[in-house]
Amino acid sequence: TEISDITSDQIAQGRRAHELDREHVFHSWQAQGPFNPMTVLKTEGSYVWDGEGNKLIDLSSQLVNTNVGHQHPKVVAAIVEQAGKIATIAPQHVNDARSEAARLIASHTPGDLDKIFFTNGGADAVEHAVRMARLHTGKHKVLSAYRSYHGGTHLAVNITGDPRRFASDAGADGIVHFFPAYPYRSYFGAATEAEETERALKHLEDLIILEGAGNIAALILESIPGTAGIYVPPAGYMAGVRELTRKYGIVYIADEVMAGFGRSGEWFAVNHWDITPDLLTFAKGVNSGYVPLGGVAISQEIFETFRERVYPGGLTYSGHPLACAAAVATIKAMEDEDLVANAKRLGDEIIGPRLAQFKADHPSVGDVRGTGVFWAIELVVNRETREPLAAYGGSSPEMNQVIAAARAAGLLPFANFNRLHVVPAMNIPDEVLIEALDKLEQALLVADGFVK
Ligand code: PLP
Repeated sequence: TEISDITSDQIAQGRRAHELDREHVFHSWQAQGPFNPMTVLKTEGSYVWDGEGNKLIDLSSQLVNTNVGHQHPKVVAAIVEQAGKIATIAPQHVNDARSEAARLIASHTPGDLDKIFFTNGGADAVEHAVRMARLHTGKHKVLSAYRSYHGGTHLAVNITGDPRRFASDAGADGIVHFFPAYPYRSYFGAATEAEETERALKHLEDLIILEGAGNIAALILESIPGTAGIYVPPAGYMAGVRELTRKYGIVYIADEVMAGFGRSGEWFAVNHWDITPDLLTFAKGVNSGYVPLGGVAISQEIFETFRERVYPGGLTYSGHPLACAAAVATIKAMEDEDLVANAKRLGDEIIGPRLAQFKADHPSVGDVRGTGVFWAIELVVNRETREPLAAYGGSSPEMNQVIAAARAAGLLPFANFNRLHVVPAMNIPDEVLIEALDKLEQALLVADGFVK
């Protein structure tokens, strides 16, 4: 690690901030007592500096949202400029930042998803998409996949298919989970990707019939599941899901909160399979998270439902000018700097080949998969049995040692259960990415030590 650009005053301020944090800040998804959060003193490009002044390469993009890196000068300038003009305005009033953000988003969303409802983040985008689907269809049930994440609010966390929903299970009705296509740990005993696709689609159709297609308003699916493991759907699966939702009159909601806005090497991950959902939720990368923003892109057909009928929903900050100005600048930066193509190139030429080499060289690496700047490494203690280095839903001392090794090598990694995710910014310089992967390999050596 390298100590640079940080003064002793900044370090002292950081220590004070840490003390105040422990006294007064209540953190997400934590037992508050033992939690010892990392202080960040500075961010720039693909780097963050911790409370001691150590410079770390950000391989996490925070919560996989800083798609154009930290402190992109054009995005920062746009926020400052907007703050000097109109810092806030009620959602019913037109403002140019919101109008232009909606135009730019609609110019990239697939098909006829050209109407944009703005929210504060991903969870409320999911809530509103489901509300729209229920009102549009007059039906109630929602299908979603196990091994998924859709947000932390009550409905969104219940739609979620991971252990974060367990504490909120009671009181959510009409949500039915299905098994996703996940070739590495097939729920269908499939030996090949083609078999996985066929069996996963058969399971989904059976479930639709057994639940009653006449009762199902929506099916929501991350186009590439993110926190749940970046398991890219096998060929044919997504087209099959689209077909089933059409066949049974179910609104198909593509959750692109994490996969969208270039992360997968396409503007939206559904583009990989050339499919158009009825609703698409976005957040995170839309403005690199510089100001909270999310939204729902709406098809013409669903828009028509609300042409004369009141849409019963809204937010004080829907289309907040600071957030929308940041979105305009982020999307323009992605266009001007050709960042979506760059994300694809980084995946095809640097991350993909290096991860394949990791799998060849390191017995702890069970599976590697991904696209663009959206990759996962699944760590196992035994490649035959695929026993994970941490059990589903938790961590393990072994996994914690691997993460600590990555940190010690100068990386800020993204880890979940038994996985390390390689999710840098779309504009990480090649040499920084290569250095980050070298550092990550040091952590894999630690993981190799646990193989039995
Ligand atoms: N949907 C997906 C696919 C996500 O990855 C997330 C957040 O990680 C959400 C929804 C929730 O977004 P937010 O945390 O902005 O509410």
